[in-house]
Amino acid sequence: MTTTKAFGVTSATSKVGPLTIERRAPRADDVTIDILFCGVCHSDLHQARNEWGNSVYPMVPGHEIVGRVSAVGSAVKQHKVGALVGVGCMVSSCGECEWCQKGQEQFCVKHPAFTYNGTEMDRKTPTQGGYSTQVIVNQKFVLSVPESLDPAGAAPLLCAGITTWSPLREWNVKKGDKVAVVGLGGLGHMGVKLAVSLGADVTLISTSKKKADDAKRLGAQHFAVSTEPEMFTRLAGSFDFILDTVSATHDFNAYMSLLRPHGALVLVGAPPAGPPVQAFSLIGGNKRLAGSSIGGTVETQEMLDYCGKHGIVSDIEVIPAQQLNEAYERMLKSDVRYRFVVDVGSIK
Ligand code: NAP
Ligand code: ZN
Repeated sequence: MTTTKAFGVTSATSKVGPLTIERRAPRADDVTIDILFCGVCHSDLHQARNEWGNSVYPMVPGHEIVGRVSAVGSAVKQHKVGALVGVGCMVSSCGECEWCQKGQEQFCVKHPAFTYNGTEMDRKTPTQGGYSTQVIVNQKFVLSVPESLDPAGAAPLLCAGITTWSPLREWNVKKGDKVAVVGLGGLGHMGVKLAVSLGADVTLISTSKKKADDAKRLGAQHFAVSTEPEMFTRLAGSFDFILDTVSATHDFNAYMSLLRPHGALVLVGAPPAGPPVQAFSLIGGNKRLAGSSIGGTVETQEMLDYCGKHGIVSDIEVIPAQQLNEAYERMLKSDVRYRFVVDVGSIK
């Protein structure tokens, strides 16, 4: 066991504050990572505050981890001491089932070991996330981060990047497709950048008029405001694909009406509850309502390599860990431009 300094919460109502945690002793196939930066995902806030009803405390959130390898076990082949690496939402899985064999460990039949608010595959040892100075992870779940990318800007690729990349690829979004991204936060801004880079014609739909200039700067060709009801009539039947990244409860039926026949609305935002979906929102126009969960190690490495090649990183605001509570409050007010990233050097 090693003692690691961290920031986390001890209950659903506690503030994010300093904690000391125990990390397991490294095994032969483990990589020890000195963490440089960790992105702040809205899922961190949902879980810190038990909004999904499955939280276990104490909890150190953080699943957008970038750092340098400080040690490797004797069986580690893929990673070398000093390499720039990343860890996303998972740190282990059964490794044997159909989905693990395909590198889609997010669907592991035994359930993957999530980076925090979970357990290792022994189902006893709690996992703790990246608001901490060091993490020990099985080599398979350690991704190579291109050295050409800014390490702080690359951290959000490990969740916001892969979570938006995976559905864009699964639904084969390509040049000329009419795409809407709903919500301009951490996921939304990566959705815009990645969809634009794939050649799509992108409309950003936001609750906030103030984000129009940013949406354009990020590459979106069009901008619409969801709080103006006429928008839903004006843009009815417009999109082949809608990526819904909204973190709060909202009406999916209204957004289904914006799809062209055969179009798909894919949910990546994970609000705790929502109004019912009406059958006729789907039937008229043969529409599809789908979801998408993060992405596996194979696709995550593919996305990181793609971002390395195209120079894509997140737009970030780097904060010391001591400002995490303020960052959570600002995230709730949609006041993020467009991802907070913790400078782990601030955890002393
Ligand atoms: P975020 O940075 O807080 O962005 C969420 C955005 O949603 C806000 O910026 C805002 O955009 C929009 N929004 C907020 N309240 C709204 C409301 N009442 N009505 C309409 N829009 C609203 O959050 P994030 O980190 O991108 O995460 C977004 C969601 O994805 C969270 O629920 C998170 O848990 C989930 N998530 C899912 C996966 C997965 O595997 N599927 C992975 C990671 C995260 P505007 O200001 O532009 O309206
Ligand atoms: Zn996340």
